[in-house]
Amino acid sequence: MHSIEILRRNVARISEQVEEAREQAVRMGSASPNQSIRIVAVSKYVDAQWTRQLVEAGCHELGESRPQVLWQKFDALADLTLPQSTDSNSSVRWHMIGHLQRNKVARTLPMIELLHSLDSLRLAETIHIEALKQGRVCRVLVEVNPTEDRTKTGLQSDEVPALLRKLCDMQGIQVCGLMAMSSLEATPEQSLVEFQQVRLWRDQWAKEFAGEIDLSILSMGMSGDFRQAILAGATMVRIGSLYWEGV
Ligand SMILES: *Cc1c(COP(=O)(O)O)cnc(C)c1O
Repeated sequence: MHSIEILRRNVARISEQVEEAREQAVRMGSASPNQSIRIVAVSKYVDAQWTRQLVEAGCHELGESRPQVLWQKFDALADLTLPQSTDSNSSVRWHMIGHLQRNKVARTLPMIELLHSLDSLRLAETIHIEALKQGRVCRVLVEVNPTEDRTKTGLQSDEVPALLRKLCDMQGIQVCGLMAMSSLEATPEQSLVEFQQVRLWRDQWAKEFAGEIDLSILSMGMSGDFRQAILAGATMVRIGSLYWEGV
């Protein structure tokens, strides 16, 4: 079979599997029946040409973990990036899912729909100031570490409320939710428990900051654990390697 044909099949299969997990989450009561799941197709494994194939196969939300690569692909696929006001079915939206260095904020801001990896006050302050300068509002998720292991990426849960409090006063930033990754070595059962923990924190902080901060996006789950994430209440999954199986 032609590679592009395999890619198209993978895209269809992944959408079906996400929908199956969503239905199961609704049955279990961890998602409401009208909850939709947004799939961010992580294009970091392939070049701009293949990224374009991913878009043509139906993926309109793309994730990159390195800013320089995001810039390069944003330019290469500029014809697909229509103004936000136009029909979203034909335009691509870029998600920054990896660590964003402060000296790369200015160039990245105009290109992204959402930053998934806000992980420090210093980064928040840089984004806030730069966004005001550019006359925009940067939509962000706060990245939280589901475990106590401080060597992992993301904020510890006990650091999050203080950051959210400060973010309330930063007009250049709009907080939209949380992002989390399960531990690398986690079994499916462990990742479910970790995602459920993040969901509990989200519900708790949403109450604490009701009327001030919106935490409705929960970006959790990758190729190996998106089912567990959706069962725990993820509203956005970031899937990369599954798209390229057999391609
Ligand atoms: C690479 C990456 C993904 C996608 O991982 P796969 O296991 O290939 O699906 C998701 N989220 C982040 C933050 C990543 O860096």
